[in-house]
Order: sequence, then structure tokens, then C-alpha cells
Amino acid sequence: MFCPNCGVKNEQEANFCGGCGQPIRKKSRAWWMILIAVLCFGVLGGTGYVYMQITKKEAL
Ligand SMILES: [Zn+2]
Repeated sequence: MFCPNCGVKNEQEANFCGGCGQPIRKKSRAWWMILIAVLCFGVLGGTGYVYMQITKKEAL
């Protein structure tokens, strides 16, 4: 990944930049992963709820 401070390319696992020595933050990516996971669960939950309502109506 690229350093957000100086733009030098670093190893994917690097915790500190090889160019400027600043710590490379990876929290932003984890935050996105959580957001995507929540969105996926929301879509799945919503689809499941709609499906349940449809099957309920068909049963009656
Ligand atoms: Zn840097």
C-alpha cells in the first residue's frame, strides 16, 4: 500500500512507512469492511423479511 503521508509504496503488511517512518493506519480499511458487512447483513435481512412476508401470504 502507499503511505498516506509521503506516497512511498510499502509492503502490504508494513506497519511503518519505509520512506518517512510514519505509522501506516489500517483502521480505515477495517471500518469499510465492517460497513460492507453491515450492509450485506441488512440486505440479506431485508430480503429474508420480504421473503417471509410473501410466504406468509401464500400460506393463507
Ligand atoms: Zn511515508
